[in-house]
Amino acid sequence: MGKLMEGKAGLVTGAGSGIGRGSALAFAREGAKVMVSDIDEEAGKETVRLIEEAGGVASFFKCNVANEEEVIALVEATVSTFGKLDFAHNNAGIGSVTAPIAESDTSDWDKVIKINLYGVYFCIKHEIIAMLKNGGGAIVNTASDAGLEGVPNMVPYVASKWGINGITKSVALEYGKKGIRVNSICPGMTLTPAIEMWRNAAPEQAKAVEASIPTGKLATPEDQGNAAVFLCSDLAKQITGVTLPVDGGFVAGKLQQ
Ligand code: NAD
Repeated sequence: MGKLMEGKAGLVTGAGSGIGRGSALAFAREGAKVMVSDIDEEAGKETVRLIEEAGGVASFFKCNVANEEEVIALVEATVSTFGKLDFAHNNAGIGSVTAPIAESDTSDWDKVIKINLYGVYFCIKHEIIAMLKNGGGAIVNTASDAGLEGVPNMVPYVASKWGINGITKSVALEYGKKGIRVNSICPGMTLTPAIEMWRNAAPEQAKAVEASIPTGKLATPEDQGNAAVFLCSDLAKQITGVTLPVDGGFVAGKLQQ
């Protein structure tokens, strides 16, 4: 079997770290040309280096997804560098400050919504404009298990991720007949640098979390990247509007203790 994304080109946001880096590496491994994008130039360029070291093709474009003009420039740069936009993984996102809503700060709400929700809105809007010129494409957004259920003490984050899943389903309905598919991945806790640090600092707590996951394991950035690649590949040509948990079964139900 050939590589899943041979001949395709696209972009990944927040690709300087964690899930975005795992995704960019997975798309490149499967033969895609990847525009690696991040607000952190050094981190993004390191992802490009890792892709090139593995024999893949990538380029870097700095973009703050909360700024519509920068998102327009990112999409244009991808099309001018690689000739087209076949896929996009809208992944950049941040967490919120942990607090019950009555103790929360509205400025945190603004910050999280601006990056997580406006970011995905700007990206999808301008990616679709490019994909329509190209005869179609596939988009995957990074939501979260927190976009499928309630989670205490992180209302801005939860609201942003439910919003991303709502956008995903609605835009899938709008553009299915124009050849554009839109899905989201909903990661459970994933071994990104921040989670690795927490696991090293609090191993007992981490063990308890792992025990609550049906597979008994935390996800890796590669697991998330593989799901994004699958959803953007032709293998998933009949899949759109899906919000796919990539969480070892965590949201499937409660484990009997
Ligand atoms: P991370 O912090 O390791 O990586 C996020 C990257 O996004 C960083 O490189 C950062 O520079 C970049 N970024 C931040 N703000 C940006 C902006 N405004 N514009 C462009 N880039 C920006 O985090 P991660 O855990 O890999 O998170 C990636 C996505 O996965 C996020 O949307 C997050 O909500 C989601 N997620 C993560 C987990 C997890 O357990 N790690 C679980 C569920 C969902």
